[in-house]
Amino acid sequence: MMIDLVLEIFGQAVLDQVRDRTASPPGKGGLALSGASKTKSLERDHERLKLVTMALWEIISEHLNVDEADLKRRIDALDLLDERRDGRLKLRQPPKNCEDCDRPMLGSAMTCPYCGAENASRQVFS
Ligand SMILES: [Zn+2]
Repeated sequence: MMIDLVLEIFGQAVLDQVRDRTASPPGKGGLALSGASKTKSLERDHERLKLVTMALWEIISEHLNVDEADLKRRIDALDLLDERRDGRLKLRQPPKNCEDCDRPMLGSAMTCPYCGAENASRQVFS
């Protein structure tokens, strides 16, 4: 299912962020990825996200009466939410831990991607 793919990708992004924060210095046996493998991992995530985004856009534009101009207007509006027209929407909050299983999840997640617990303190866009 598409949502599983999206959750897998965002779950991996959260894990990568946690890994970055908890990384030990090189040679200490921590979870740190080398620069090259981190770049490869980011490239893979980027390509998968691009694929998912394109698939979602095709489904949305086929099923709803929207076109690329609508999409561009929405992208511009979202881009300006952080008061900077820079093609990015920066996350204001770091990932939090699930209250049930203590694994990382996005503050905007409806449920924990690991145990399925409801995110009681959900922030819609963080
Ligand atoms: Zn959980």
